[in-house]
Amino acid sequence: MTKSDPPSAPLWPPGKPRRPVEPDADDAGVETLCVHFGESPLDHRGAAAPPIYQTSTFVYPDAEAFARRRTDAAGLYDYTRVGNPTVQLLERRIARLERGRWACAFASGMGAISAAAGACLEAGAHVVACAHCYWPTRQLLDHLRRFGVEVSFVHGVRVEDFAAAMRPETRLVWLESPTSGHFEILPVAALCRLAHERGATVVFDNSWATPVFQQPLELGVDLVVHSVTKYLNGHSDVVAGVVVGRDESLRQRIERELELAGASLDPFAAWLILRGLRTLPLRMRQHQASALALAKMLAAHPKVARVHHPGLPEHPGHVLAREQLRGWSGLFSFELAEPGAEPVRRLLNALRLFQIGVSWGGYESLILGGSMFSDRPDRPRHLIRVSVGLETTDDLLRDMRQALETV
Ligand code: PLP
Repeated sequence: MTKSDPPSAPLWPPGKPRRPVEPDADDAGVETLCVHFGESPLDHRGAAAPPIYQTSTFVYPDAEAFARRRTDAAGLYDYTRVGNPTVQLLERRIARLERGRWACAFASGMGAISAAAGACLEAGAHVVACAHCYWPTRQLLDHLRRFGVEVSFVHGVRVEDFAAAMRPETRLVWLESPTSGHFEILPVAALCRLAHERGATVVFDNSWATPVFQQPLELGVDLVVHSVTKYLNGHSDVVAGVVVGRDESLRQRIERELELAGASLDPFAAWLILRGLRTLPLRMRQHQASALALAKMLAAHPKVARVHHPGLPEHPGHVLAREQLRGWSGLFSFELAEPGAEPVRRLLNALRLFQIGVSWGGYESLILGGSMFSDRPDRPRHLIRVSVGLETTDDLLRDMRQALETV
């Protein structure tokens, strides 16, 4: 194309029709979906990478077109807080990966979690949640008490304990499996049946497994939430969240939360996440391999008392995990044989490749330790949580072995 070509000149020569890449078939593999789903270079003058619609507002040629904008079949945009083509491409792709019908992207995982809780609750409603859900999720649910919402937290994984916690006014069951810090495996399909019999909506945090390894909507869950900050983006450079579902009325309620609470995702962040998503299945396989190797090494190490990794056969939820999950991600925890905070401090300070820091799911290995994962201050468990990154497996093993020598 020369500079004098009008912008509307056909970019791909006539007579050489090319189909947009359409891996929409039901049997498309996860790698193909992550690379191509929903993208058509034809729509973007042949650009292999989609453009970023970095705009807050969209303008119209006349008043009539503006008046039709929300009813137009083409799905026109007006304001990025409620819709943007780059963000929508990401939403369509994540919805397809989770086998949902729609997805709504948010500016953080907590933005998505707040919207999912807000969409399901009103004053007088009751929530049943697994006790070891992500700690700020737990705090958020507690925080809702000031609006007249009641909350019960269930320890452990038994369906009977969840059933005993249910009340006639239970509207929401909040699940995470594996659970945060402790990595317990919940019987998801049975808990969904229980919740639905009692008229409650089930929300599931799938940040740990990602849709590559677990698709909770297929197990009966109503809404899936993600901290996209973690594996879906995978590069520790974006904070984002998403809610995915199938039901149309839930979609409308989530969109209302998005529009009114306003925790929308920025188009550039959406574009970075699309870039990260292209390698999600490859990254997950590497996280899985290194984390499993590290977990096995730790389980056999004399200075380690326990390893909480659902992929190990000795994990109490291992058999169920194999039914619900297709693989294991890179996040797990362990406990040292020597009790107390001091050996944990020594181990963390001796590590060179594992960096001390919050968050997880990125390319870099991270470690956190201490009683922060304990919900029993009277009986602190000194859990050490590792997020195994994409470094060479042997380098990670060597680093952990040398640090254990100092304990
Ligand atoms: N869910 C889980 C399991 C998490 O670990 C986190 C963050 O660590 C979140 C949700 C919250 O996501 P964000 O930090 O993107 O708000």
